[in-house]
Amino acid sequence: MSNIHLQNCPVCNGTQFQPYLQLKDYSISKEDFTLMECKDCGFVFTHNFPDEKSIAPYYKSEDYISHSDTRKGLVNRIYHVVRAVMLQKKAQMVEVYSSKRKGRLLDIGTGLAYFPEFMKSRGWQVEGIEQDADARQAASKRFDFVVNDVPALLEMKGRDFEVISMWHVLEHVHHLDVYMKTIWENLADDGLFVVAIPNPDSPDAAHYKQYWAAYDVPRHLWHWKPQVFKTFAQKHGFEVVATKPMPMDAFYVSMLSEKYKQASLSFIKGIFWGKMTWWKSLNQPQKSSSVIYFMKKI
Ligand SMILES: [Zn+2]
Repeated sequence: MSNIHLQNCPVCNGTQFQPYLQLKDYSISKEDFTLMECKDCGFVFTHNFPDEKSIAPYYKSEDYISHSDTRKGLVNRIYHVVRAVMLQKKAQMVEVYSSKRKGRLLDIGTGLAYFPEFMKSRGWQVEGIEQDADARQAASKRFDFVVNDVPALLEMKGRDFEVISMWHVLEHVHHLDVYMKTIWENLADDGLFVVAIPNPDSPDAAHYKQYWAAYDVPRHLWHWKPQVFKTFAQKHGFEVVATKPMPMDAFYVSMLSEKYKQASLSFIKGIFWGKMTWWKSLNQPQKSSSVIYFMKKI
């Protein structure tokens, strides 16, 4: 097994880091990890994370629902209801901020491809990228559009997509620079780039500390506070034109975090904290458990 030991901050190139938080992979390996923070820009990342070849075992769980379709357990059942509501909201936001009702859309890290399928039903031409072979196969059995593996993304040239989306994916990506460059080159000049990522600056992250489920180490390599993300986007030629909360995420993350704390009444407490953070984030997307960034080329 090989780990990646960063010498330079991926955001500002700084070389001075300090420990930010000690935590565990609660969901799968139970191994200990450390989050580090860049002293110059405040970017937080998982220290010594497994490289691309070594990380697969950390995804091997029936509970890792982004890559499976299990309906077992209350948390998973809730997740499936929330997903239906969120598809509708995501589609509306994408159409508002792209100012388009149809066009070419690429969803990177599409999982079981429900988002592009939903957009297709609204008239969009869609494609997906997914590195998990099982998920790709399941998607191509169900839906009739192309879901390719990651190499197909990295070979793309001048595709001019009107929308490129990454819903809770960028925090998993090893080669940030390569992805951001490829996305920039394949987005139309007036295209919209959409990224949803967890927010370590949220009240629920502050409340749950090392138990906050959206740290999800070592699967999440990067942990962007909103201000740091804007700098990162700019470095890669994007301007953040709008931010929105993903309010339903607060409930799911809070319930999982209570589970990791092994708290009694974890479900009730999770609902309570989810409601608190949802309420606080209504008019302040930068306080949301997860933030959606809508970006245009500079
Ligand atoms: Zn930095």
